[in-house]
Amino acid sequence: MAPPRVSRGKGPKSKHDSDRTLKRKRGEDELSSLAQKVEDLDLKATPKSFSDLPLSDPTARGLAASHFKTLTDIQSRAINHALKGRDILGAAKTGSGKTLAFLVPVLENLYRKQWTEYDGLGALILAPTRELAIQIFEVLRKVGRYHAFSAGLVIGGKSLREEQERLGRMNILVCTPGRMLQHLDQTAMLETNNMQLLVMDEADRILDMGFQKTVDAIVDHLPKKRQTMLFSATQTKKVGDLARLSLQDPEYVAVHEAAASATPSTLQQHYTITPLESKLDVLWSFIRSNLKSKTVVFLSSGKQVRFVYESFRHLQPGIPLMHLHGKQKQGGRLDITTKFSQSQHAVLFATDVAARGLDFPAVDWVIQVDCPEDSDTYIHRVGRTARYERVGRAVLFLDPSEEKGMLKRLEQKKVPIERINIKANKQQSIKNQLQNMCFKDPELKYLGQKAFISYVKSIYVQKDKEVFILKELKLEEFAGSLGLPGAPRIKFIKGDDTKERKNSSWKMAHLSGSEDSDGEGGAKTAKKDENQVRTRYDRMFERRNQDVLAEHYSKLINDDGTLVAIGAGNDAGEDADEDADFLSIKRRFAAGDDNLGHVDSDSDSDSAESGFEKKETKVVHLDGQDPLVIDSKRREKLLKSKKKLLKFKGKGTKLVFDDEGNAHELYEMEDEEQFKARGDADTQRERFLAEETERTRHADLQDKEVARDKRREKKEKRKARERALAEEEAGEEDGTGHGLPFVPFEIPGSDSASEGETEAPRPSKKQRVSFAEPHSDSEEGSRKKSNKGKQVAAQPQIETLADLEALASGLLD
Ligand code: ADP
Ligand code: MG
Repeated sequence: MAPPRVSRGKGPKSKHDSDRTLKRKRGEDELSSLAQKVEDLDLKATPKSFSDLPLSDPTARGLAASHFKTLTDIQSRAINHALKGRDILGAAKTGSGKTLAFLVPVLENLYRKQWTEYDGLGALILAPTRELAIQIFEVLRKVGRYHAFSAGLVIGGKSLREEQERLGRMNILVCTPGRMLQHLDQTAMLETNNMQLLVMDEADRILDMGFQKTVDAIVDHLPKKRQTMLFSATQTKKVGDLARLSLQDPEYVAVHEAAASATPSTLQQHYTITPLESKLDVLWSFIRSNLKSKTVVFLSSGKQVRFVYESFRHLQPGIPLMHLHGKQKQGGRLDITTKFSQSQHAVLFATDVAARGLDFPAVDWVIQVDCPEDSDTYIHRVGRTARYERVGRAVLFLDPSEEKGMLKRLEQKKVPIERINIKANKQQSIKNQLQNMCFKDPELKYLGQKAFISYVKSIYVQKDKEVFILKELKLEEFAGSLGLPGAPRIKFIKGDDTKERKNSSWKMAHLSGSEDSDGEGGAKTAKKDENQVRTRYDRMFERRNQDVLAEHYSKLINDDGTLVAIGAGNDAGEDADEDADFLSIKRRFAAGDDNLGHVDSDSDSDSAESGFEKKETKVVHLDGQDPLVIDSKRREKLLKSKKKLLKFKGKGTKLVFDDEGNAHELYEMEDEEQFKARGDADTQRERFLAEETERTRHADLQDKEVARDKRREKKEKRKARERALAEEEAGEEDGTGHGLPFVPFEIPGSDSASEGETEAPRPSKKQRVSFAEPHSDSEEGSRKKSNKGKQVAAQPQIETLADLEALASGLLD
């Protein structure tokens, strides 16, 4: 814990100064009594309301102003452990208030450590999606509004440079892993040596495969001594995960572990058996009969989301439709989440980017058209409804082939789910309409094809083969239900098939080339079949449709999945077709890239050195290279220029000299006996690898250490400068709060400035931006940024997420 703030620099000289000293003294007393209360906290007690917890005044006021009074179970159990600095593994159902369970301790623990702008990054909060990070940031801003910390949102979508400047001065960062790592690697100003708290929301997701490398690299940047808190509705208990984060004797706070179900008790859950080919019909019928509801519909891929959204939009169901998937631009994604949050009645088609953590108010239904990949994903998806004591309903559409496997999985996870049947008279088929639309609109058909393929692929790559059985799906009918005239053919090429396909046209061209040069005689190899000539347009067309395996594409793939080399002239050579000289070779390149005539195979002439005689063709041997053919004046000239010849001469070999002055190759073969004497090759190799790994690891550590020292030194200097300046300024100003030279959530002053009131700009150069009431702080034009005189963007009205985002980017600009 940091020592209490001591007065820096000048002693009390005036009344002004002595006031400040008094205030500071009072502050110190409060702090030490707060610290004592935390010390005395009884960990067995289960506090009922926030006022039962030893919280600082700014946090308590922030919570009250956001209308949080009573504690939820997880908050009651986790916060007191966290206040004491323990590592936490928090598990509680969706919508049970986990966000505050970590935000309150983050604020409190930094507050008690008297974290200031000079201390840099104090807490890092990781979330798996941008939307969730934004949401956490918003809650942080709300409950932390009376604190003097600065907080930033790091989620990408902005230029790295823009963010870099500000990051070094942030106390709390809410971020997505990828972007954070980028900054840790590249932003010199960002110091993590001092960081106190690491939080992972939706921890099991952040720790799973997709983020593994990134998260490990992030953790590498962080100090070992820190408090770590993991929260999720489906918490990881894997020892490996905990070891990766080097948790210290973590407290496992699992409040609903003994509960009868893993999902909220206010959530009604159903499934219906809906064959794949009728899923869209059922979905449409559902939407049509629930026009006064707010619904989230989950599909398994972005392409499906797009297709269903676009086609349903054309059909005009009579309720606003929205869609959300990972490939959308960030701005669009934000607008959509905001719009959906504010809508009373709407349908949001989404991929699993929306599955975790998002707290859309008052969602009535969660429909899972495509089966979730596992029971955890199911739990998170349905968790978008029935949040915090509200009711909600969820329906899962299961293909008959998925029923048995999926129900088993859900049962294992304690998910109570009942079967319902769709009333036949309520069902409406949109198949014909979709077919009509696809027929008229090639774009839509194209989307449909993509949706089909991505769905089939998604089933193909699913790990749980008990649930996802590709061969049991009626794909032809499914394609029909999307309005497609037939199922696009899909071949699964072993290994990385996408790559394979992407490179296919190139490969073919390549293949044909090499085939040619091997061809007998070599002078001319021609295609015999006119059909096999591929034009540039053919190839372009193939490339555009690499995912849509239309007929012409599937022709390129044999039934066993190998590529057919079209145009390769497999059986060429029998007779040359003059028309097909498109890819044939007229002249062969013997050496270099200049045009050369064809080589006499026996032109092994010995007149290499005196190679200026004007023969038709002549071959010059330069050391180490293919013979150089001289058959033109240009070539002859070339022989006169040493510089040009260098190109054909091969590089010299590097030699080393021993003590006696004898030259040796850089790498020489050692005596076999000697080699064997040292053990067999495998063990030697292993030993060598181990030694080298150790050496590089060591060197790496040293490098990092040096780099870190340098950065630290630089930062110290900067801090010292700033501190000196700040103190000078503090002398001129009333000492309420610590005006931060960057944008924090701020105390609107311990003086009488009521919240929400427009705060008159202070005379100080320091920034004091009040986030007090989101709708009222339209003050603050641009102000000078501390001593550097930089401008900071105006604080706009904050009503929507888009505003928030603009603000967040303002913070980081
Ligand atoms: P989780 O992360 O567990 O899914 P959230 O933290 O998103 O849940 O909270 C779900 C909802 O419950 C949010 O709308 C939040 O405002 C509300 N909430 C959380 N804690 C409290 C509380 N103590 N009192 C009232 N509402 C709360
Ligand atoms: Mg959450």
